[in-house]
Amino acid sequence: MFRPIRGMKDLYGSDINKYNFIIEQARHIGEKYGYSQISTPIVEQTDVFQRSIGDETDVVSKEMYSFVDKGGESITLRPEGTAGVMRAIVSESMAQSLPIKLMYYGEMFRYDRPQKGRYRQFHQLGFEHIGDKSPYTDALLISMASEILNSIGIFGFKVLINSLGDDETRESYTKGLVKYLSRHEENLSEDSKKRLTKNPLRILDSKDSKDKEICSMAPIITDYLSKESGQYFEKVCALLDDYGVNFEIDNFLVRGLDYYSETAFEFKSTSEEYGDSVGGGGRYDKLLKIFGGPDVSGIGFAFGIERLMMLLDDSKFQNKAKKVAVVPVSEDENDTAFQLLKTLYDADIPAEFIHNGNLSKKMKIADRMNCGIALILGEDECENETVTVKLMNCDDKSKKTQTVARNDIASFLKHSL
Ligand code: AMP
Repeated sequence: MFRPIRGMKDLYGSDINKYNFIIEQARHIGEKYGYSQISTPIVEQTDVFQRSIGDETDVVSKEMYSFVDKGGESITLRPEGTAGVMRAIVSESMAQSLPIKLMYYGEMFRYDRPQKGRYRQFHQLGFEHIGDKSPYTDALLISMASEILNSIGIFGFKVLINSLGDDETRESYTKGLVKYLSRHEENLSEDSKKRLTKNPLRILDSKDSKDKEICSMAPIITDYLSKESGQYFEKVCALLDDYGVNFEIDNFLVRGLDYYSETAFEFKSTSEEYGDSVGGGGRYDKLLKIFGGPDVSGIGFAFGIERLMMLLDDSKFQNKAKKVAVVPVSEDENDTAFQLLKTLYDADIPAEFIHNGNLSKKMKIADRMNCGIALILGEDECENETVTVKLMNCDDKSKKTQTVARNDIASFLKHSL
């Protein structure tokens, strides 16, 4: 038997209902904040990700699904959405009318170790606001993200926030960090030893337990913030306070991708069962320029849709739409029943045509298919141009079955569904 590829899964039933609900809420709120939708291809040239996310990140160095296509070009299944959106802004000449606010959602691919909440194909829902740098923009974006979480019924979360400062900040912090980490070099993991010269900030993301212990005592970036970056960060925090956003400063939050600067943030679920990151983002200063666009700043974030789905209650997302079963008693009534079905569809009434097996089997199928009402057509009904309407799961005998004229059935059902 074929199974999905490891770390990838089929979405159906309550899961796909959750997925659609999350997207609907996010689109509604995104529109209110002025975002329009973009959908970029799932594959891009490998360079699109390599240059923007950074060679030394886990995503690029270990997790990308890259392959050479039949034309000999190296292409990659997108591991995140921001790089493709930046590429599109430049290649579609959207950068001529900045600022621009875009939202996207769709499949992402990372060759990660599969576990609960971590997949190789997963979905992200993201927002990017490009061409406008101000603490107001940052606070509005974070506050919109919190509003989306509330609107889908996730109240147990906190926003962790940090500043990665400007270039000057990161340059002096990197020196301080390297000085500290060099003293512990022999105890660092092999990956981190390599990163010590290539990209020391990434060591702070390491999942290795010894690296984590060493990093917990490392200098913090907040102590190195330039005056401008310090003031910027203070203002973002004050504005979030004004909007009543529940946030905490986390001095070690650096996020796993190279392109962030200034404000960085992450949304953590406070659920006891599943207390992991549900999303995150930050400001980026050079991204559009990397793709040949203007030298402007942007800010964005992405939620992991599967992580949000895990926090929603299955029972609220079952298929509960009330449907009508059209049930001919025998084959002789099939054609009349088939015509009746069309009358229902023309009136926008959800219906199923159940015509296999004997009457009792058909009624069982109708029940299994979540039909609340059965329309039974036997010899008498066909002759009298009527329908026997049977309410499924109804104990009140006087209401359980009634006869309705076939011509009136659509308006009758519209009132009783
Ligand atoms: P990132 O693009 O790494 O900042 O991730 C943003 C969000 O995407 C995370 O907070 C997770 O919710 C989600 N995410 C990242 N990687 C995975 C994965 N392998 N499986 C499921 N969700 C993921």
